[in-house]
Amino acid sequence: MPRQGIALVLSAPSGAGKTTLVRKLLTEFPHIGYSISCTTRQPRAGEVNGKDYHFLTRATFERLRAENYFAEWAEVHGNLYGTPLAPVQDTLHQGRDLLFDIDVQGAAQLKLNLTEAVFAFILPPSMLELENRLRARGSDDEATINVRLDNARKELLEAHWYDYLVVNDDLDKAYEALRALYLAAGLESCRNPGLVETILTA
Ligand code: ADP
Ligand code: 5GP
Repeated sequence: MPRQGIALVLSAPSGAGKTTLVRKLLTEFPHIGYSISCTTRQPRAGEVNGKDYHFLTRATFERLRAENYFAEWAEVHGNLYGTPLAPVQDTLHQGRDLLFDIDVQGAAQLKLNLTEAVFAFILPPSMLELENRLRARGSDDEATINVRLDNARKELLEAHWYDYLVVNDDLDKAYEALRALYLAAGLESCRNPGLVETILTA
């Protein structure tokens, strides 16, 4: 049986540093695929359609949702987000690893369907630091920052059911933790069918 790819699902409150950590992981391990979500929110400066997200109108998103196009979907901060199902199935069946950057509602849906997925939650060191980072990023107005902070409190209460908790205080240490859990996932016996038999007959 060919090795199934690792589905690595990352969640974090907005501003915790998930995008920064994901970029580092994909730079070090370029073979990991990235699940490009669809969203109805406006692109931020520097975001590329088809690379960071597929930016859709609400009408298009709702049509695709009705056609069961998504593996999961959720409304986050007033916008719709969803993971296209077909690329997930294709990538994992090809034995390629795939990274998901999705919120806790979407992760809970994936947990029901992707039973061997690895779930990691990235936490800020404190709520104060989270607020500082959201302001420093400069991409959201005051009202949006407040919505994101309210949401963050709710999301943190869901972190307990994730497999791993990574506190992003020092960026390098948080990255080492993320890297370690990804590498450990690849060593799980369930992901290495036939390995022992191969060794026994070599
Ligand atoms: P997210 O994707 O979780 O919303 P970002 O990766 O955009 O978060 O990070 C939010 C802001 O915090 C960015 O300006 C980023 O440069 C900064 N940041 C990320 N990690 C750290 C860290 N460990 N210490 C200080 N600032 C950080
Ligand atoms: P942002 O707008 O900051 O890029 O993302 C806001 C939130 O939406 C983040 O928590 C991010 O993980 C989440 N998100 C991004 N894509 C998806 C998706 O496809 N599904 C779900 N459920 N959440 C998503």
